[in-house]
Amino acid sequence: MEPVYKRIILKLSGEALAGEKGFGINPATIKEMVKEIKAVHDLGVEIAIVVGGGNIWRGKVGEEMGMERAQADYMGMLATVMNALGLQDVLENEGVATRVQTSIEMRQIAEPYIRRRAVRHLEKGRVVIFAGGTGNPYFSTDTTAALRAAEIGAEVILMAKNNVDGIYSADPRVDKDAEKYSKLTHLDIIQKGLQVMDSTASSLSMDNDIPLIVFNLNKAGNIKRVILGEEIGTKVVRGK
Ligand code: UDP
Repeated sequence: MEPVYKRIILKLSGEALAGEKGFGINPATIKEMVKEIKAVHDLGVEIAIVVGGGNIWRGKVGEEMGMERAQADYMGMLATVMNALGLQDVLENEGVATRVQTSIEMRQIAEPYIRRRAVRHLEKGRVVIFAGGTGNPYFSTDTTAALRAAEIGAEVILMAKNNVDGIYSADPRVDKDAEKYSKLTHLDIIQKGLQVMDSTASSLSMDNDIPLIVFNLNKAGNIKRVILGEEIGTKVVRGK
């Protein structure tokens, strides 16, 4: 079977790197995930990864504790850099060439984000990890995924979720009657107020016509299934 996508953005939330405890960085958890990423990389798919930071810090939580929002958000952006370096370490140990690019300059540890350079790395078969979010407070790494996807011409955003296999009408862990959608439009997400990502990320991917697939990261082989065109999870498209 042939991959149906040539260039993708994989959005990994901070939680995905945390393991069972739900916080911090667990190299063993990352290793399992990296095997899945490597399997897709071996198919010749160009992979760029946007990492979140919620396993370490979220700006909103800082704000609730009395911090200035922008300051707390910068801390969140720095958290994503720690995750990116952890992910890079494991990927390289598994023999996958990588580059980390940060939206906030940290030249001793990573390249600054340069769009053309990122594309070149992808063409050369390197996995590019985008860290630091958009570099701006009040944004999220979901929005970063939509922004970078548009910039580098990714055909799809793969939104890997922890133990949730798609988008539901309500939280399936709380509401037994929650219904799973197999297909939605970006506008549906905004209008129905579905908690899959923030509205900035939804509208940016809608405006730039970037499809999104939301699927369960914790089921072995799922990233490859999506890449091979199997219909799992929920697909979000622009619609009419
Ligand atoms: N963040 C930000 N601007 C961005 C991306 C992220 O300020 O462009 C901050 C924000 O405080 C956020 C934190 O970084 O709470 C971690 O990112 P996110 O919550 O998106 O991570 P995830 O939920 O994917 O783990």
